[in-house]
Amino acid sequence: MKPGVNWPVTITTLAVAGVAAWWTFRDARGRDANPLLWAAGIVISALMVGYVGIPIVFGAYLLLRPRGALLVCPHCKRRYIYNLAFCPHCAKPVKKECLRCHDTMPLDADTCPHCGMKAL
Ligand SMILES: [Zn+2]
Ligand SMILES: [Zn+2]
Repeated sequence: MKPGVNWPVTITTLAVAGVAAWWTFRDARGRDANPLLWAAGIVISALMVGYVGIPIVFGAYLLLRPRGALLVCPHCKRRYIYNLAFCPHCAKPVKKECLRCHDTMPLDADTCPHCGMKAL
């Protein structure tokens, strides 16, 4: 074997980086957490330091990402973090405002969970 680029390792590394970046991009977009930055970080670290860079950036993302339950958008069926009022994927409202206390509630709620007012 001549020294040089180890293609099987390089291709595997890029494939893993691609899958990790794609997953992170989707997850970060749903959580409103710089999806492009994190996805690019995974690919760049894989290119710079090799495959060990992927779990480092991926682990950092899992530690730093906004925590909270993911809900399914009623418009586009993709997932978003519970505290957003607008879907980060399709930009449609996923909450409505209570007319009495002006807090937000799920689009399909019958009564306001904050003050008990009947929703319109
Ligand atoms: Zn949506
Ligand atoms: Zn209310």
